[in-house]
Amino acid sequence: MSLLGEVVENVKAIVKGLKVTLSYIPKEKLTNQYPDEPIQIFSAYRGEHYLNIDENGKERCVACFLCSAACPANAIYIEADEDLRPYEERSTREERFAKVYNIDYGKCILCGFCVEACPKDAIKHGHNFEMAVTNFADLVKDKTYLLKNLERESQLPVIIIDETMREKYAK
Ligand code: SF4
Ligand code: SF4
Repeated sequence: MSLLGEVVENVKAIVKGLKVTLSYIPKEKLTNQYPDEPIQIFSAYRGEHYLNIDENGKERCVACFLCSAACPANAIYIEADEDLRPYEERSTREERFAKVYNIDYGKCILCGFCVEACPKDAIKHGHNFEMAVTNFADLVKDKTYLLKNLERESQLPVIIIDETMREKYAK
């Protein structure tokens, strides 16, 4: 190809590229200025877990180990204990409870198997995706942290979208 031919081809390629760029300018912007602007997340999103409490504020977990048995990543560590005090005096729903409940997010793949395995609705996925840390030890979240996670999540600039809206957003 002659030099002039090459120049013409290159100019045509640049114009073609610019046409694509310019066609996007009038369209709705997809970039979110997070955290200044809230981000939208579907309700089924599997973020960092939280340990659930019942309507009376009692811990639901009975330390049955089903979640840790179901975990393919061996990410859950539990130690069971018993609190034989009357219901009104203890912080747990049942006498048996998890004295230690850790999830290692260095291992967890957010698959949701633990949530499905739990017969007590005690472990749930929240919507928190701000999970970055600066050292490995901080990837292990303990019971105190997980019990507070739903409250922590409510402070995030996140809008939860109902799953029924998924079709609308897919367009
Ligand atoms: S979400 Fe999956 S990998 Fe993470 S703790 Fe639960 S079962 Fe394990
Ligand atoms: S979170 Fe659920 S499955 Fe896991 S130990 Fe507690 S009660 Fe059992």
